[in-house]
Amino acid sequence: MTLAELLPSIGCSTEPVLEEGLWPDGTHLSGSDLVIGGVPATRLAAQFGTPCQVLDEATVRNRAKAFVAALPEAEVVFAGKSLPCPEVYRWMASVGLSLDVSSAGELALARAAGFPAGRIVMHGNVKTGEDLKAALEYGVSRIVVDSFDEIAQLGALARHGQEVMIRVTPGVDAHTHAAVSTGVEDQKFGFSLASGAALEAVLRVVEQPSLRLVGLHCHIGSQVRHVASYEETVRRMVGLIASCGVRVEQLDLGGGFCAPYLPGESSFDLFGFAQRVRGTLSYECALHRVPVPRILIEPGRSIVANAGVTLYRVCAVKRGARTFVAVDGGMSDNPRPALYSAKYAVRLVGRGGKLRPVTVVGRHCEAGDVLAENVLLPADVHAGDVLAVPVTGAYHHALASNYNQVGRPPVVAVRDGLARPIVRRETEEDLLRRYV
Ligand SMILES: *Cc1c(COP(=O)(O)O)cnc(C)c1O
Repeated sequence: MTLAELLPSIGCSTEPVLEEGLWPDGTHLSGSDLVIGGVPATRLAAQFGTPCQVLDEATVRNRAKAFVAALPEAEVVFAGKSLPCPEVYRWMASVGLSLDVSSAGELALARAAGFPAGRIVMHGNVKTGEDLKAALEYGVSRIVVDSFDEIAQLGALARHGQEVMIRVTPGVDAHTHAAVSTGVEDQKFGFSLASGAALEAVLRVVEQPSLRLVGLHCHIGSQVRHVASYEETVRRMVGLIASCGVRVEQLDLGGGFCAPYLPGESSFDLFGFAQRVRGTLSYECALHRVPVPRILIEPGRSIVANAGVTLYRVCAVKRGARTFVAVDGGMSDNPRPALYSAKYAVRLVGRGGKLRPVTVVGRHCEAGDVLAENVLLPADVHAGDVLAVPVTGAYHHALASNYNQVGRPPVVAVRDGLARPIVRRETEEDLLRRYV
């Protein structure tokens, strides 16, 4: 850290510096306000209400382009489940990415976005008949099969030549949270490499006249920090390609590249990943005398997480042994603390003050509805203040619920000083529409 970066925190304890790497590109302080995509956070809160999920378009586009630039020979596939929204899918299409969907619903959003079918991959450990029919009807380019039942079902439904990849469990521990560790043995995803199920799946697909095997797929987990986990995955997957005796044109390494959530956490080493995966792939393919397959990668979180900021309004403050700051959202717009013990930074926007540790909690009827513990806010934080929580672009809109019949927040895109909703706020009318 340079002295210049340190100075603001020395000179003024009431205006904490902006944590590096967490906020959307170009986010800066203007007095005590936070400017995102050229728009002050206080204005966004006033104009669109709270809670409000702000998404910086330039950050999303830049991160997507960074993947393409790091691995120009690869197909970069956006994991659509991380931020399901037609407008976001259009941004991905326009910068040359492909799209992963994992249900007929996500595919419906892709269709609404006009996303080219030839660049859509369908996933999922359970695909219902409706999911598969929707995929075939739209003509998605590849379907990643995940069970023997699915191979048989898809074989019967598909027209001639449907391209298929096989989801393999390579047995690599990505050293991440158990709820998002998907590459190890003994969990629900894919065909085990170690047990021989993956090889058996290759044979079963090849036997189906309507299916054409184009690739092998794996996804070792999410919030993966170590490039070495991907190198080990490449070694194992090329070993499988060599033993399966058929031409494998594509090797999909999945996503899972980590994003920083707290000050001091680093971003994923994309350049190191590209170099080391490329090197390992060509070495292993030469060793096993197999042609080098085209690499696919499926980033979700690492593209959109740091592009998002959620704005809340403080509704109540309770002071006791701890200070609880209660806001107008909570686990309905961010269940990640409850699901994964996820931690977040929080800052108050629009004014300063001497900082004190507080616990920020949500409005829902669960003791576990805590958004952030032990974060520093001005000691006189009070009802009406606006709080900003960074790193809410991935798996926030996607995981939002209507618990307590709270309408889900809008997603407001910001760019060059302009703000526009790309998902509108859910109203009581929306909620009532489903009840009979
Ligand atoms: C969820 C998922 C991804 C994206 O994971 P991130 O951690 O968001 O990068 C990629 N591929 C598959 C198959 C997934 O299930």
